[in-house]
Amino acid sequence: MSYDTQPKASHFIDGAYVEDTAGTPIEVIYPATGEVIATVHAATDAVIEQALDSARRAQAEWAATSPRERGRVLTRAAQILRERNREMSELETRDTGKPLQETLVADATSGADALEYFGGIAAGLTGEHIPLGEDWAYTVREPLGVCVGIGAWNYPTQIACWKAGPALACGNAMVFKPSETTPLCTLKVAEILVEAGLPAGLFNVVQGAGPVGAALTTDPRVAKVSLTGSVPTGRKVYSAAADSLKHVTMELGGKSPLIVFDDASLEDAVGGAIMANFYSSGQICTNGTRVFVQKGLRERFVQRMAERMKGAVIGDPLDEATNFGPLVSARQMEIVEGYLKTAQDEGARCVTGGERIDRPGYWMTPALFDGVTDDMTMAREEIFGPVLSVLEFDDEDEVVERANATTFGLAAGVFTRDISRAHRVIGRLEAGTCFINSYNDAPVEMPFGGVKMSGVGRENAKAAIEHYSQVKSVYVRMGAVEAPF
Ligand code: NAD
Repeated sequence: MSYDTQPKASHFIDGAYVEDTAGTPIEVIYPATGEVIATVHAATDAVIEQALDSARRAQAEWAATSPRERGRVLTRAAQILRERNREMSELETRDTGKPLQETLVADATSGADALEYFGGIAAGLTGEHIPLGEDWAYTVREPLGVCVGIGAWNYPTQIACWKAGPALACGNAMVFKPSETTPLCTLKVAEILVEAGLPAGLFNVVQGAGPVGAALTTDPRVAKVSLTGSVPTGRKVYSAAADSLKHVTMELGGKSPLIVFDDASLEDAVGGAIMANFYSSGQICTNGTRVFVQKGLRERFVQRMAERMKGAVIGDPLDEATNFGPLVSARQMEIVEGYLKTAQDEGARCVTGGERIDRPGYWMTPALFDGVTDDMTMAREEIFGPVLSVLEFDDEDEVVERANATTFGLAAGVFTRDISRAHRVIGRLEAGTCFINSYNDAPVEMPFGGVKMSGVGRENAKAAIEHYSQVKSVYVRMGAVEAPF
């Protein structure tokens, strides 16, 4: 069975599909063909009101439910999501254009991991007992209230589950707005949560672009906003949330360094750089797009990379043999092509790829650039496309300084066989999510997020709990109160 791409209605509120055709129509395009596969409507003020109101009503009762029961619902939802992996993956492929070979292992499965993980730890989310001599204090971990999740288009199922898992485990409700480019999968996540027993109103989905996100961010009923998106959007959402001092989590963009020392395994380093630049056609926030290769290895690295890039199987993303898909939209294609032109103008050497493929949809061959220098635009700005830049370096101090010379700080990777150097260098890099002899692994057990302008807060692991709950402290006096009068 596969899911229809046209959803029953645009929004999912209070346990049911909801439509309001007065909202601006949004066409959903299959990036592999350019065909319209569904139409949804942006949420009107009435829909936003309904979503927030139902979330607020449902949240109080959910907060009073035992954490064990909350966990059980999430665990059940994880199981259903796994059972529907194929249907979900096919829908994700149609929503985003990412090859089925990827979506089968990295999207609904990662979403299910998050629901399962937070389902599993829900019952253990307790406070502390603090002995104070005769007196004592204790803490209670309380939910924040209604949380808003706003997603990017590259991982719609995963992003929704990474936010919903900890939010619901902690006793919050969530109103989620997926990206207007990929609105389909999150509706299925909402359906599955309800099927698993989540009471109505606790995970509502509303569609729309920036203005809908902005309306959610400024609503006084909302306690927290968690955004996955670009730095410019992060700035807007952060400052809008500051007005009423809402909690925020910001998962933003990057320009991450991947450092390859000359003692590294060449095959592993090239493989790591492929994962860091071409998976999801390069549309991953943590991508190691500045590949610093030590002088003695650079030529061999570039040569081997060019050879291995011939292994890209470009074609129908629904064919499981395909391992390289289209870009998500015509707009993204234009942005990436603009960067490629600037790269050539600024003197970077294109070794292979970066050409538009003549077929319907948004296709380009993966690009490898050599001779890239730190001042070039392609080494400074996030491209969000399949473009790998090779920069040469001499020694450790130099590469650390150059790697850190950016306002971003999302991720970083090091390839070397020298274990002391690996940890020393990682220790000096300004990045939130790091990899040694690997790239882009993101298991739910490992906190995920950025430093500097790449983010605020962390998703996944126990760290996420701190961002979806608050601590109440209670002082308990056992003896008489000693007042001055
Ligand atoms: P984007 O910033 O254009 O949009 C992200 C989301 O914010 C969308 O849902 C959009 O509708 C919404 N939005 C836009 N303006 C808003 C406003 N004023 N108020 C509230 N919401 C608003 O990002 P994108 O193009 O969808 O995604 C690509 C970007 O996301 C890249 O920069 C990438 O690095 C980043 N990203 C980060 C992570 C991470 O975890 N750090 C993961 C995936 C993507």
